[in-house]
Amino acid sequence: METEKKYNKDIRFRFAPSPTGGLHIGTARTALFNWLAARSMGGKLVLRIEDTDLKRSNRDFENSIINDLKWMGLDWDEFYRQSERLEIYLREAEKLIDEKKAYRCFCSSERLENLKGLLISEGKPTGYDNKCRDLNESEIEENLKEKKPYTIRYRVEPDEIAFNDLIRGEIKFSSDVISDFVLIKSDGTPSYNFAVVVDDNDMNISHVLRGEDHITNTARQIMLFKSLGYDIPEFAHLSMILGKDGSKLSKRHGATTITQYREEGYLKEAIGNYLSLLSWAPKSGEELFALENIFEKFRLQDVSKNPAIFDIDKLNWINGNYIRMKSSSELIKLLDPFLPSGKDKKLSEADNLKVLKFIDAFKDKIKTLKEFDCLAEDFFMNEIASYEDEAAEIMKAETAGMVIERFESKIYRHNKESGNEISEEEAKEFINEISQELKEFNIKGRMLYMPIRASITGNVHGPELPKIISILGTDVCLKRIKQTKIFIENNKKI
Ligand code: GLU
Repeated sequence: METEKKYNKDIRFRFAPSPTGGLHIGTARTALFNWLAARSMGGKLVLRIEDTDLKRSNRDFENSIINDLKWMGLDWDEFYRQSERLEIYLREAEKLIDEKKAYRCFCSSERLENLKGLLISEGKPTGYDNKCRDLNESEIEENLKEKKPYTIRYRVEPDEIAFNDLIRGEIKFSSDVISDFVLIKSDGTPSYNFAVVVDDNDMNISHVLRGEDHITNTARQIMLFKSLGYDIPEFAHLSMILGKDGSKLSKRHGATTITQYREEGYLKEAIGNYLSLLSWAPKSGEELFALENIFEKFRLQDVSKNPAIFDIDKLNWINGNYIRMKSSSELIKLLDPFLPSGKDKKLSEADNLKVLKFIDAFKDKIKTLKEFDCLAEDFFMNEIASYEDEAAEIMKAETAGMVIERFESKIYRHNKESGNEISEEEAKEFINEISQELKEFNIKGRMLYMPIRASITGNVHGPELPKIISILGTDVCLKRIKQTKIFIENNKKI
């Protein structure tokens, strides 16, 4: 009997991006792992936009992040924006003040800057010196009456903080290394550490899964969970993603955001598939899989704590596989923004036919959709953009001119009698005929094919010649042969 999977109401993950930039590849991997973990455990996923840094956050970034998450095929059950919840943070901070677990700090930002400078010059760790920790009631009243701006600071008490990271095992901190930190800034907005804790509690988050750069924040957050009397969630920290050279992934290693990868011509299936292999792999050893089939096999405890290496060659290999799995009609849709004619006008029927032939010829060789774009430039223009040195060399041979002449006359005749369309078989037949006709001059193999290829493409590599001729059509072939003959003439003069 089929058992229906029940939603486990106790399992709740969250993905909490800050909209201060596009969806970075590392952040996308965190989102994906939260999605995989939540779905694999039959739980729920919350998307929380952490936009309390009003200066650096904006809606364009938020929209771009959401678009990219959706493009990757991720979905979520609930959505929140921290900037819409400011009174909740204030209410909780005031509770901590009442319980003497937090206090108002009236230090000016100038004083704090000077303090920091002094501590740095003395080689000491920077941190607050607790000046306002024990102000008496009348001092506080006085400051409030004067309307002095203040922050709300957490009173760090001596404690040992330990937690069991689901990926990394036990992690311990001593509160000695943590100074009294800000919960609410002077403009009334919460600090990151405070908002996260209030929200994780309010949203009933059971599992906090994020990058290892947040491990030190976890210590502060656990203190807050305890002080606020909240249940502490499980924590798991994903390892960093490094470039092949072992340094932190950055612009130097190529595209950094999902939007960029999409524009480079990576398919969503490939991105999702590849990112899920950064620190995890299905036990079956499969390398190509769809996300909706794999989450059943995902186990948080199988995630590795070793740094993940971002290997663009592997991503390209995966992407090439997904391109080949697409039917030509699916590809034609995906390629639309990448083809020269698709950029500003809709493809005509004739163009469509050309694109289909073109896709068919290149599908096996291509790793990204954008590569079609470069190749398409060669195929959709009447003229050859440039001649490769090797092609120019080939055409210097005495016999090349003979081959090109014959080829031109056959194409010319076909054009007059049957028009632009030419099938691969017809093109193949022409080449055979030329080969027969030039037998007595011992022109065969390379000396036969290369001049023809060079005369219509300007280079000596690419898909099979009859395919190229058929894709180009006789109109373009004739224009290009004419151009090549001029090129050969000019070359002779040099
Ligand atoms: N907003 C944080 C970030 O973008 C994530 C916070 C968290 O997951 O706790 O790095």
